Parts: sequence; C-alpha cells; structure tokens
Amino acid sequence: MDLRIAHLYPDLMSVYGDRGNVLALAQRARWRDIAVEVRAFTAGTAFDADWPDLWFFGGGQDQGQDIVGADLAGPNGDAVRASLANGAAALTICGGYQLLGHEYLPENAPAIPGLGVLDVRTRAGSLRFVGNLVAETPDGVLVGFENHSGRTYLGPNAKPLGTVVVGNGNNGEDKTEGAVQGKIVGTYSHGSCLPKNPWLADRLLAWALERRHGPQKLIPLDDREEKAASEQAAEVAKARA
Ligand code: GLN
Repeated sequence: MDLRIAHLYPDLMSVYGDRGNVLALAQRARWRDIAVEVRAFTAGTAFDADWPDLWFFGGGQDQGQDIVGADLAGPNGDAVRASLANGAAALTICGGYQLLGHEYLPENAPAIPGLGVLDVRTRAGSLRFVGNLVAETPDGVLVGFENHSGRTYLGPNAKPLGTVVVGNGNNGEDKTEGAVQGKIVGTYSHGSCLPKNPWLADRLLAWALERRHGPQKLIPLDDREEKAASEQAAEVAKARA
C-alpha cells in the first residue's frame, strides 16, 4: 500500500511548525509499512488532481494568502476541488483553513475568495488570538496553539471539529474550534498539530488511504509518548488560562 501527500504552497503557507504535520502523517504511515511520497504543489505549477490522496495546507501571513488566493482562483483551485470531490482528504491549518472556506476578509484589504469546499467564512478582527488552544472533540482532546486575527464562522454544511476548553478557536465567541466537512478538516491548531494529536493523524490517514485502497482499519501504534505530550500540553494550557 502507498500514500501520496500533496503539500500545498510549502514556500508560502507553513508558519509555526505546520510542515511538521506532513512529517507526522508520513512517519505514522511508514511505521505501518506504508510507502509514502510527498510532493510540493505551489503557485505557478500545474496541479495534478488525480495524484494526491491527501492535501496538507498550512498557515501563513495575509500577504502569502493573497498570492495563494490568486493561484487558487484559477485552474489549480479547480484541481483541488475536483480531487476533494473524488475522495481525497485534507488537513488545513489557520490561513489554509480560511482559504478552503468561501472567503477570507483581511482587516484592511479586499476579500480573498476561497475554494468554498468548507462551508465557513472568515473576517479579520482587530485583536489577534495568540496562545494555547485546547478543544474537546468526540474522538479525543485537541491541543495546540493559535495565532490568528481571523474570526471563522461555520455554515450549516460544516460541523465544528471541537469545543473550546482553553483559547479562542474559530472566533472567540461561539466556543467552536475548527471545522469538518466530508474528509476535510480545518483547525486553528498550529504547533504542529498532528504529533500531539495522533487520533486526528490516524483519522486523516485512514481517509486518505481509502481513496485508492478501500476502507482501512489501521493497526494501532504505541502512542504513549504522543499521549503524554498531549496531556502535558493540556495541563499547561489549563494552568495558564
Ligand atoms: N493571516 C491569517 C490570520 O491572521 C492567518 C494567520 C495564520 O495562518 N497563522 O487570521
């Protein structure tokens, strides 16, 4: 079995350790003897919609989002949409998350249209949300840290990834964090997210492998260290809240 990971705009959208999510996905697959290939898909290259099993789209600054938004407004955005419609999975963080929604409205600039594959809308606020993030989800506790001015609001076709326990999450108002729609996950959890949240990494791996290899029941890994890191991060976050 093999896994194909497309890393979207790694040169423009990979702040706060987000590329570590690609490393975590690849390593958790290789620990299960699954061959992995990672390819960079960035502005100015033509995206192959048929290749990826999973898209990773990290966070970035507003100026990076401008360039990426323009690229996604063309054939590359169509390719990502087609790929997701045909069973690929996606993990998107912060700025990437915002651009998979309908639009991102910066504080002092025109709106950047998003891909519209997540039913969310984001507008920048005046105050940045920076700090530890802990959210409860049906499949485990999500820990990380957030750094964004965007306030994201979910529409009826997206459901929250979790409920905020520490931090602000999507918008600092409705206690939601992240969004899930089909096999697409968006979150504000930087850090990188997946090494401390192995349950989410394995959910994405199973979804990605299913595209070409059918439904998967992944063999469990020894996650004692990952779980200890998650518990410690949650404890520190709660103590400092
Ligand atoms: N520029 C966006 C915001 O501030 C995304 C930031 C990020 O990806 N960390 O909300």
